[in-house]
Amino acid sequence: MSNRQTKTDVILIGAGIMSATLGSLLKELVPDWEITVLERRGNAGEESSNEWNNAGTGHSSLCELNYTVEKPDGSIDISKAIKVNEEYQVSKQFWSYLVNSNLIRNPRDFIVPVPHMSFVQGEQDVTFLKKRFASLSNNPLFQGMEFSDDPGKLKQWIPLMMKDRTFDKPIAATRIESGTDVNFGALTRILFDHLKSKNVNIKFKQNVDDIKRASDGSWELKVRNVDSGTVEHHAAKFVFIGGGGGSLHLLQKSGIPEGKGIGGFPVSGLFMVCQKPDVVAQHRAKVYGQAAIGAPPMSVPHLDTRFIDKKESLFFGPFAGFSPKFLKFGSMFDLVTSIKMHNLVTMMAAGVKNIPLTTYLIKQVMLSKDKRMEALREFVPNANSDDWDLVVAGQRVQIIKDTAAGKGTLQFGTEVISAADGSIAALLGASPGASTAVSVMLEIIKKCFPQHIKAWEPKIKEMIPSFGVSLLNNPELIQEIHTSTSQTLGLADKKPANPKNQKKRMLKEA
Ligand SMILES: Cc1cc2nc3c(=O)[nH]c(=O)nc-3n(C[C@H](O)[C@H](O)[C@H](O)COP(=O)(O)OP(=O)(O)OC[C@H]3O[C@@H](n4cnc5c(N)ncnc54)[C@H](O)[C@@H]3O)c2cc1C
Repeated sequence: MSNRQTKTDVILIGAGIMSATLGSLLKELVPDWEITVLERRGNAGEESSNEWNNAGTGHSSLCELNYTVEKPDGSIDISKAIKVNEEYQVSKQFWSYLVNSNLIRNPRDFIVPVPHMSFVQGEQDVTFLKKRFASLSNNPLFQGMEFSDDPGKLKQWIPLMMKDRTFDKPIAATRIESGTDVNFGALTRILFDHLKSKNVNIKFKQNVDDIKRASDGSWELKVRNVDSGTVEHHAAKFVFIGGGGGSLHLLQKSGIPEGKGIGGFPVSGLFMVCQKPDVVAQHRAKVYGQAAIGAPPMSVPHLDTRFIDKKESLFFGPFAGFSPKFLKFGSMFDLVTSIKMHNLVTMMAAGVKNIPLTTYLIKQVMLSKDKRMEALREFVPNANSDDWDLVVAGQRVQIIKDTAAGKGTLQFGTEVISAADGSIAALLGASPGASTAVSVMLEIIKKCFPQHIKAWEPKIKEMIPSFGVSLLNNPELIQEIHTSTSQTLGLADKKPANPKNQKKRMLKEA
């Protein structure tokens, strides 16, 4: 064991999209601050941020039905859809800034335009979709959304999904051209390459075992090399716990009172992936359906065109399941060791309340491939089992805490937990996830560096022109941002929607 202690201004734990984003923002705001990144894996973006571990949807509520709920009076609540959409506009502005500043060379390496669609079957869901469309389509954030219940039109939009379909119930879909597929793994690696070029000290294979407050208020981290077992100590004035599923344990180790009483519920994921060119060529969209009754929102089924390593494929899923691990490369003891005296009652209450959900998830894990094919055939009626492989996705650790709704309530969003003095912050939860990384990291900056915000604001506004402004109340700004980010990120795609032609062109460009 070494007693060497390295001191830096900032330590980022974890090399996922969140640390990549926070590091990139801070490097622009205060280039001379020293930043160290500590990551247990051998590379950046190997956990949830990896392109094979998430669905790559640029979440902006263009297609996700769970962001618009029907109220008891029958009207549609679109407040969450607006929030998520505005947050995604923030991400697109920051990514555009990085492209315009030559810090990202080619946006096609991580973002591609792919229409976003919602698809429903059955009278009740068709009525819901019509109402959802009516509520969103007049809103400037959702401009360009189309609705159709005409099978002929749907055949043009989603030929693969309409082939060999029997029309025993009504169907309908909405479609919007301005959707995106984002390779968050590639983006994470691009951002870490950029940080490395700015002298950020990125240390792989380093597991943060412990975090303790020093007498001067800074933080001391005990860090173990996962190969050799040697231990180092690192200290910093500010620590960001960006460990994804690993964040809860680290937050607990910090001992800050804000982290007490919080627990985690891990949900695993599986995708079915098709890479057969003649099947892939028949579909170009991200098509989201309705979650099954009893299913958690993160298991809403969708059929997505994906661009990974300049190759196009189709992903279907995710099938949610239960695993006690908090990280894909985590330990079977993660759930048990996260139960402490301070969250025991909360966890027990959550355990009792969520028996049906846990049973559902366990049943999902045990589904045979044939059963999964049945779910896929709701989307692709003639899907051939030989064309689709199962791929294990990332883990999502949902927050459990006591809320006004009761003890041990399961939360499906993300939450920033920070110390009162702003010296340490953690990100818990996983939805809407990577798409909103820039907004969430700006929230951390505001919470943890209030003394600097005034001085940093001009630079933040240069990077994110809509910072501090409600886009919804500024339709012209929405238009401006939409046009400029689409141009910079190569999303200004106005070609007709023939999947085969468009796909050939996009692959050539990619
Ligand atoms: C199945 C699935 C589908 C998803 N789909 C989407 C989607 O379509 N769109 C979207 O926007 N988001 C999606 N998400 C969510 C998104 O992937 C996550 O929100 C995002 O990747 C989280 O990034 P992160 O940096 O917080 O965590 P991660 O990418 O998990 O990175 C955390 C890092 O911390 C490291 N680490 C953990 N503990 C330690 C430790 N003690 N010491 C050192 N290092 C440590 C890990 O090894 C890891 O590299 C999806 C997630 C899943 C699982």
